[in-house]
Amino acid sequence: MQAKTRHSLYIKRSVAILIILFFVLILHFIGGIFQRVGVPAVIILIIAFTTYSMTKIPTQKKHTSKKPHPEPPIIHQVKKTVEENVTGIDISVIGTEYRRSKHQEFEKNIDSILDNCIKLLHSHINSHTTAIFFPTNDGGYKIRHYLSKSEFVNKDAVIYPGVGVIGAFLKDGLKQLKLTDIVTDSMTLYYYKKDAGIRSLMASPIIADNVERGTIIVDSTEKDHFTDEDHAYLTTMADLLGLSVYNSYLYNQHKLDHERLVAMSNTEKYFFKEHSIDGVFDKLVEIIPFAFHCDRLSLSLFHGNETGVIRRVWGQQTDGLPNLTFSLQDKSLANIVFNKYLCFFRNFSEERYEIRHSNDEPHSNDFGSFMAYPLGVDKCKGMILLESVHKDTYTERSRDLISRLVSSAGVAIEKIQILQQTENLAIRDGLTGLYNHRQFQILLKEAITRSIRYKKPLALVICDIDHFKKVNDTYGHRYGDTVLKTIASKLQSSIREGIDNAARYGGEEFALILAETDSTHAFETVDRIRQQISEMVFRSPVGKEMHVTLSFGIAVYGRHAKNQELLIKTADKALYKAKENGRNRVELYYKTNQG
Ligand code: GH3
Ligand code: MG
Ligand code: MG
Repeated sequence: MQAKTRHSLYIKRSVAILIILFFVLILHFIGGIFQRVGVPAVIILIIAFTTYSMTKIPTQKKHTSKKPHPEPPIIHQVKKTVEENVTGIDISVIGTEYRRSKHQEFEKNIDSILDNCIKLLHSHINSHTTAIFFPTNDGGYKIRHYLSKSEFVNKDAVIYPGVGVIGAFLKDGLKQLKLTDIVTDSMTLYYYKKDAGIRSLMASPIIADNVERGTIIVDSTEKDHFTDEDHAYLTTMADLLGLSVYNSYLYNQHKLDHERLVAMSNTEKYFFKEHSIDGVFDKLVEIIPFAFHCDRLSLSLFHGNETGVIRRVWGQQTDGLPNLTFSLQDKSLANIVFNKYLCFFRNFSEERYEIRHSNDEPHSNDFGSFMAYPLGVDKCKGMILLESVHKDTYTERSRDLISRLVSSAGVAIEKIQILQQTENLAIRDGLTGLYNHRQFQILLKEAITRSIRYKKPLALVICDIDHFKKVNDTYGHRYGDTVLKTIASKLQSSIREGIDNAARYGGEEFALILAETDSTHAFETVDRIRQQISEMVFRSPVGKEMHVTLSFGIAVYGRHAKNQELLIKTADKALYKAKENGRNRVELYYKTNQG
């Protein structure tokens, strides 16, 4: 925990002590009341404050709540646990699970305050039963804590305004109550299961911040048992209790909100530090399942307005989803998210299967509800889909939270995409989109280093369009450009993504860097590409069908050349030989040597 935060907590606690001293002073000036209730009042204040102080200033990674979760994702196994995650942020603090467990812990503290308060009351006022009631969501008052000589107290009792002896007095809010001669059966009080012979009763509302927060009831089996002094004591206790419980609730709420805010802003910071979209996706997979309830999570990225691809999955029934490419035009949840650019959550329909991404995805009827989010701020760049096996899982509150998280991830992704575009301007050729000559030299150097380190072969291919000048001369330079782009795209799609590289070497010449490829395999691959290109049908601006061919030269690092410059030279020589031998053919350097 930051020293500053700790410091501010200490200040808050000091202020709390001063407030308590202030109350003691007021009681002192009231004099008469202090004589009667001063001592117990001070005791209860001390108890309340002790309980409050028991909620220790949190230290980092204090809590233990950890949501059990199924096996991690398939595409990218995120093995790190919550504690070990790269961000170092205590992610579960964001989630509802953590809040729930903290609230439970807190309610235990409240119970101990109530327990001490009841013991004090019971010792001072000779009552049969002392009970504290807290409000319910439907307007009633439920017994929260009690101490009784009777075994007939109904511990699940709820008193509703207008019902029973006490309820009759509660119609327009809680009141001070003093009944001296009850003649009806105790069951009409609504907190006894059997008649306990109750004859007199007092009640005092617990009010804090001008809101009714409960009531304390004490009763007796004797007629007119309680004195005015008893009633004054009860009233003071109710006031003090209201204040301490209410302030404790406020403190707990503030503490949880603060923790969540810190975790959220740290998470956002880490999103913005990321340099790759994959990195942002990995972090989302680390965070979402721990912070929000979900049994399956899928993250997809959209390309333009045509297609999307599932980049990460987590949870159960994820087979067949990784890397699934889908059309954004088909009817699906992804289609709605993309076209409407909205987040929505609801239960799955029972009558018909709802397509998440594509009809090709494995269908599963095990999920009850979902929450779908568009990723991106300006435009919809992807979708985050949380699914739960239960119905009605996603509430307004969890929606607001995840919305903030997804927004920052979206901004981070947009930032990365803009950076990538700028970077691309420097390393890619503007016409074809392939790497430019400068980048080709860098990539070749890196490939040679890897080839040496891992002792793997490396093939360099240089190719040139045959009689390209004629294409320009016949159909114009513009059409020549179109042909160049088509050939470049064919070359790019013919090599292994992420392993090989294609570059525009210059003019109508291209280079292919084929990693871990010997001369035999290079020849086979390149000859297949050559043949496919020669079979492609081009339609000229005047509608005439035509074909374009290329000549290819191959050299293998180590076998044909010992350095980069020589490797390029030998591949170039092989290309020259291919031209010489009639074009639309592939030549390996050794052949040219022999020739
Ligand atoms: P060869 O089979 O011997 O390679 O014949 P070629 O006609 O292809 O060879 P040459 O080197 O004589 O001509 C290459 C032509 O490529 C000349 C040049 O105008 C054209 N060219 C180079 N860059 C571009 C470009 O960016 N766009 C267009 N349209 N043409 C280009
Ligand atoms: Mg040429
Ligand atoms: Mg040329």
